[in-house]
Amino acid sequence: MNNKYKYPETIGLHGGNFRKDDVQTSVAVPIHQTSSYQFNSTEHAANLFGLKEFGNIYTRIMNPTTNVLEERIAALEGGIASLCVSSGQAASTFVVQNLCSSGDNIIASTDLYGGTINLFNNTLKSMGIEVRYADPSDPENFKKLCDNKTRLFYAETLPNPSLRVFPIKNVAEIGKKLCIPLIIDNTACPIICKPIEHGAAIVIHSLTKYIGGHGTSIGGVIIDSGNFNWSKNKSRQPNIWEPDQSYHGVIWGEAIPQLTGANIPFIIRARVVLLRDLGSALSPFNAFQIIQGLETLSLRIQQHCKNALKVKDFLETSNKIEKVIFSTNQNKYFKQNAKEYLKGGEGALIGVELKGGLVAGKRFIDNLKLFYHVANIGDARSLAIHPASTTHSQLNNEDMKKSGVTDGYVRLSIGIEHENDIINDLKQSLDKI
Ligand code: PLP
Repeated sequence: MNNKYKYPETIGLHGGNFRKDDVQTSVAVPIHQTSSYQFNSTEHAANLFGLKEFGNIYTRIMNPTTNVLEERIAALEGGIASLCVSSGQAASTFVVQNLCSSGDNIIASTDLYGGTINLFNNTLKSMGIEVRYADPSDPENFKKLCDNKTRLFYAETLPNPSLRVFPIKNVAEIGKKLCIPLIIDNTACPIICKPIEHGAAIVIHSLTKYIGGHGTSIGGVIIDSGNFNWSKNKSRQPNIWEPDQSYHGVIWGEAIPQLTGANIPFIIRARVVLLRDLGSALSPFNAFQIIQGLETLSLRIQQHCKNALKVKDFLETSNKIEKVIFSTNQNKYFKQNAKEYLKGGEGALIGVELKGGLVAGKRFIDNLKLFYHVANIGDARSLAIHPASTTHSQLNNEDMKKSGVTDGYVRLSIGIEHENDIINDLKQSLDKI
């Protein structure tokens, strides 16, 4: 892949190999709304299916529009290859399934998006994959929970609702010694954090959020750093080093570096095994929409973060609010993490705990006029939600508490409107509590 630019402002527009459509010369990325691709000959078709050469076969597995997005996102995150999937949830599922089988386990941070906790505690459990939770306040907790069936570490850069920035470097280092890759969900921090630079092996995003940016399309992506040492302990990663019967006994850890010259068995396996079998493909139309979002991401993220700081300062003056939760409003350890890992912005998610608990939380949301009351984050518009009665309502009390959600907690995703309008809306709503 062509990683010729290093600045996110440029990568969003020019990252990867696409310059123009080679047939029609269009500059905007064309939407290749096709399921299938004509093979040149029977030999060509056989080579593609046998992975002797790479090329388009079927849109469930690859698509030229989606490929432009994949190259740009990989460049943006400092990875060398990526795979788009139909949603952020699919990305989370794929990264686990790519390395784990029934009987295996993963160690995940206690601070996670509620949907991920549901996936981990129920669906993965039903597949025989155990998720053990480590409190990130001490990275050693990850080591303590490992055994010889542990296949990966999983965490979010800036998890809501706790908004405690994860100690990426420390946990990645522990994992590298054991041949356990750290997977980071960087959904809340595109551009302002680059987990691969801090040692993450794999990064995922819900593209539905800041990267798409306009709340139009659901999508997800998995990015491979290309620098994880899968050979360090081969018995640790059977899906990479044991023959895959679904591909005539191929060993991905050997075959992919030979075929591509790159250390990307993880991402290729995810594409040709999981996407082939599970079919969670991103539609080319959604890829096109998300490419439009990516073009302006660098500008938007700055405005999101700038507004969030102003809003946080305002909220701290309100006598209706018990506590303002923000990446830098944390104890010394997590404040230091925010400083170390977030550059050029401190994120645009804010939590508030209202003094009046559940009733105040609901009333606050019902009186907002500019803010949308939605389940999403990272839209250009300002958004609010009451997690205890919505996004986190399917968790039991214990998991809800562990995730940091209380009855009076309201999550704000600060948009790119003028800061005065955002603050005025919050003010008028707080006045009505
Ligand atoms: N990861 C995080 C941090 C999220 O906030 C979300 C959705 O809110 C997801 C993953 C799931 O993404 P999607 O809604 O695209 O499936």
